[in-house]
Amino acid sequence: MRREPDKKEKRDIRTLARFVALYCGQHHAGRTPFTFPASGLDSLFKSVELCPECTRLLKYGLSMRLRCPLDPKPLCKKCPNPCYRPEYRDKIREVMRFSGMQMIKRGRIDLLYHYFF
Ligand code: SF4
Ligand SMILES: [Zn+2]
Repeated sequence: MRREPDKKEKRDIRTLARFVALYCGQHHAGRTPFTFPASGLDSLFKSVELCPECTRLLKYGLSMRLRCPLDPKPLCKKCPNPCYRPEYRDKIREVMRFSGMQMIKRGRIDLLYHYFF
């Protein structure tokens, strides 16, 4: 069993979920509450609803974040040895770009400090 995620991991996970949920809410229908029991972190996803495609993307991103071997972890976009499969990397970049712009429009600049893609 893996150790309990630390504060930084939880913060990244919350941010990732928030960015994917914002993107999904404006692009896709058929959303249902997101759960990922295997992560043991469902309490962080209380208001997150996603379509099946974004559910897969977020689960993948969470798994990669929780398995990241680098400490301190760089921003993924500056990673010397990126772990994401190319199709997920392109998708998560698109999501982060879109939701990053939305966050700026909403004045949530604080969240962008944790913008790790
Ligand atoms: S891309 Fe690099 S920094 Fe990001 S999770 Fe993977 S190994 Fe860690
Ligand atoms: Zn979606």
